[in-house]
Amino acid sequence: MEKELKKTYKCKKLMDGVYGITSSGVACFLIIGKEKACVIDTAYGFADLKAYIREFTDLPLTVFNTHGHIDHTGGNFYFNTPVHIHEKDAEIYKQHNEPSFHRYMEKTLKVFNKIFFWRILVPKHPEDTDEGRVNFSDWQFVKEGDTFDLGGLSAQVIEIPGHTQGSIAVYFKEKKLMITSDGANPATWLYLPESTDIRAYAASLHKLEKYDFDTILTGHSLKLFGRKDLKDWINVAEHPGLSHGKKQKGGAFAPGVTPLQVWAEEDTKHKGPSIVIDPDRIS
Ligand SMILES: [Zn+2]
Ligand SMILES: [Zn+2]
Repeated sequence: MEKELKKTYKCKKLMDGVYGITSSGVACFLIIGKEKACVIDTAYGFADLKAYIREFTDLPLTVFNTHGHIDHTGGNFYFNTPVHIHEKDAEIYKQHNEPSFHRYMEKTLKVFNKIFFWRILVPKHPEDTDEGRVNFSDWQFVKEGDTFDLGGLSAQVIEIPGHTQGSIAVYFKEKKLMITSDGANPATWLYLPESTDIRAYAASLHKLEKYDFDTILTGHSLKLFGRKDLKDWINVAEHPGLSHGKKQKGGAFAPGVTPLQVWAEEDTKHKGPSIVIDPDRIS
């Protein structure tokens, strides 16, 4: 394998036919069926993700984006295949993949580098003239219930508005696996201009509960979550302890917003899951 790929991506087998790939604090996933494989999110795109994935499978690839943010869509352009994304995240996707936004991320990541212990790579941002970088017309919009046959394995789209309006989960019934990425996790960001209110987010979590799954995978770790975790996340969304929230310094992707991290009402020691909200948007 090329040195740059090895340096940029790490891969871990999580279940039979399910691989988690991490890069600079972001997780994306490769799920392999008998006839096709699917890639859920594409990280920042710091190195050729498709070439990396080809080390694990030769099958035709279907690419999904759980939502439009740069840390989950930045590597789309390597695949030369229509990307499956929800129409409501099209604008965010466009905005996050403009060369100017890449440059903004470049600066932000340099700051992050000093704060966190992640091994952050600074992206080789595209130039304005770099036409091949993003092809905005190469989309396949997906909606609730759309199901893709991978050969002995199905991938089903579930709309989970919250983190963004067009966030989706991808459900693999045969593996009892739900991939929610940033849409449902132990510290879901709801402070972004493109986020919904807490109530809509809670409704999305309740919808997930109805599916038959054992494992949840999220967007910034390879930890395996389960049904009990989802219950805890619902509890935070329904009983947020607004009076003992903690102000954050500033919010990535939302200049001018001072996010508030909020734990469940009874979790005054802040040991459990949280949500991150914009206190100015609480009605
Ligand atoms: Zn996100
Ligand atoms: Zn993310």
